[in-house]
Amino acid sequence: MRLARFIPVLLASGLALLVAAILLSALPANAATERDRGPGDYGYQYTDHPSRVSTGRTIALYIDRDFDDTERQRIVSAMRQWNYVLNGFVRFTARLLPEDVSSSEIAQIRRSGGWVVAKVDSSHPITRQGEGRQALAVTVGGSGGGFVYVIGDRIGRRDLTGVVMHEFGHVLGAGHDGYGLMAPVYNANAGHCIDRDAAGLVANAQHLPLSQMNWCEPARDYRSPMASRR
Ligand SMILES: [Zn+2]
Repeated sequence: MRLARFIPVLLASGLALLVAAILLSALPANAATERDRGPGDYGYQYTDHPSRVSTGRTIALYIDRDFDDTERQRIVSAMRQWNYVLNGFVRFTARLLPEDVSSSEIAQIRRSGGWVVAKVDSSHPITRQGEGRQALAVTVGGSGGGFVYVIGDRIGRRDLTGVVMHEFGHVLGAGHDGYGLMAPVYNANAGHCIDRDAAGLVANAQHLPLSQMNWCEPARDYRSPMASRR
């Protein structure tokens, strides 16, 4: 267990509350609608297991100001879907990175176990090493927080919410899995919501009871045409 990473020091959480208010006003007002629209469009729905009382374990995300409103909305959608899946056991919080963030502020974020979601392009050094050469996004970090690099010019018209949800799976300790959200290669026909396998990988990594979490399944009106094809 690496519980310590989820317990920010008191000073950092006071700071976080202050900055969170700025994020709320800077986010588009309709950000909440994205979550409901996203998975439904792809024929999925989430399970609805009773939510538990929050454990107070949080993971702080710091969103780069270079993301535009639509991109921020999609990142928030990815975060909300994970929070729904995590069902109170662990919760992501998000705020914008401070303007002209300094390296000492970044170091402070990492010391408190926070994760920076950074928008870069394919000229960034992260894209020239290892997995980064062909990736849409790269997550680097561990128990002391880290970075999720989103390689903006490679995303194109792909599903940014899905790409970021995959990376947040890594933030939560999941590795790759053959198919679905945590497949190692982006698939335009899969990975638009947090499936049971992805939730299971996180449950293992975080020592959580999968049966009390949520995950997406094919929606009822999506399943019936499949059944009639037999
Ligand atoms: Zn990956």
